[in-house]
Amino acid sequence: MAERFKDRVALVTGASRGIGRAVAVAFAREGASVALCYTSNDGAAEAALGDVRAAGGNGELLKFDVADSAAVAAAVAGFVKARGRLDVVVNSAGIALDGLLLRQSDDDWARQLAVNLTGVMAVSREAAKAMLRARYGRIVNLTSVVGEAGSAGQGAYAATKAGIVGFTKSLAREVASRNISVNAVSPGFIDTDMTARLSAEQKDAILKSVPISRMGTVADVVPAVLYLASDEASYVTGQVIRVNGGLYM
Ligand code: NAP
Repeated sequence: MAERFKDRVALVTGASRGIGRAVAVAFAREGASVALCYTSNDGAAEAALGDVRAAGGNGELLKFDVADSAAVAAAVAGFVKARGRLDVVVNSAGIALDGLLLRQSDDDWARQLAVNLTGVMAVSREAAKAMLRARYGRIVNLTSVVGEAGSAGQGAYAATKAGIVGFTKSLAREVASRNISVNAVSPGFIDTDMTARLSAEQKDAILKSVPISRMGTVADVVPAVLYLASDEASYVTGQVIRVNGGLYM
């Protein structure tokens, strides 16, 4: 197994479950030392850390709410101080609180913006301090097919995911001269806790629009994230890689 991340230090938000967890384990397998960030699910986080260690990696848990900028700053700064560097950040923490517009509550709207969009900014802002000093960095943000194509009942979620694309491209321009890349991965319909709550009818309806005719797995998404986080992608910034089975082209 190639060790593309040997001696690298990575921080992954949303690492207790789903895509972030699979990414954290893959980083560990390829030699990185990983901070696994999560907010509430201690059992899942401990299991994810166990997977990282079983993969021969070095990891630690960081528990904070990405929507709390002060908590983000303290946790990320503390991690950087302890490790002496931060090479890679993957922003995978996210929530979807679905609802049609006329039933959209201000609280649900605000919470999705705070977690999905402000959280990406806050983690990136703190990480960028270390990356700018080191003149090296890789930031990979998780957007979604929903931010590109729209989805009835997911206006707030879609707005946050479209916002991530604009933020990714703007930050990419801001820090490119310092050897820091900022890219996004846009998954389609991936089998995780986030999609587990959909009914069989909803899943069938979505699958009819997927040319590859199956749900994606976290293993389908991981290679795109790792590529963008690696040195192989040193001439790639401000890009969005779609991993969606052809759902949106
Ligand atoms: P998931 O399985 O639901 O896991 C969500 C992760 O985010 C968990 O680790 C959770 O931590 C963490 N998280 C949630 N709120 C947080 C907060 N306020 N602060 C810190 N961490 C928080 O999600 P997923 O399916 O892996 O999705 C990962 C990313 O990909 C998300 O940004 C999502 O929008 C995007 N995406 C997913 C799909 C899909 O089909 N699954 C498709 C396109 C894009 P706890 O365990 O502590 O709750």
